Amino acid sequence: MRGPCRRVTHGHGSSGPLASVRDLGLDSGGVSPPAIPCPSCSVPLVTPDVLDAGTVAIPDLSVLQFRCPHCRAGAWARLGDGHVALGPVGGEPGDFDAACEPALSVRPDAGWLDCWYAGQYRRFPARIAARVA
Ligand SMILES: [Zn+2]
Repeated sequence: MRGPCRRVTHGHGSSGPLASVRDLGLDSGGVSPPAIPCPSCSVPLVTPDVLDAGTVAIPDLSVLQFRCPHCRAGAWARLGDGHVALGPVGGEPGDFDAACEPALSVRPDAGWLDCWYAGQYRRFPARIAARVA
């Protein structure tokens, strides 16, 4: 006995833990990531520095708060799809120094800020749970 017209749909499960690790470690192109000066000490910071130093996020503003690895001062990074901008804590994100960062994409949510950068995924919790019930 076999079913009349059974459609079997499998084989496209792309949800493995290492679904598509590609081009990792290939840095032979000579393209260095954009660096933006720290608002406190003016040392140029690249996106991985900022993400590594990230602490909490303000999803409403697409802002990640981080601590500069050089001067230890707090600063804000405004993260967007394909761009990043740095400025002082509490500053106006529209005035931040910005750079193109094609490898970056972000997705804000109510309680966190999700970031993907060069195949790496990170989630930063929201600084304030601004939930008005
Ligand atoms: Zn600094």
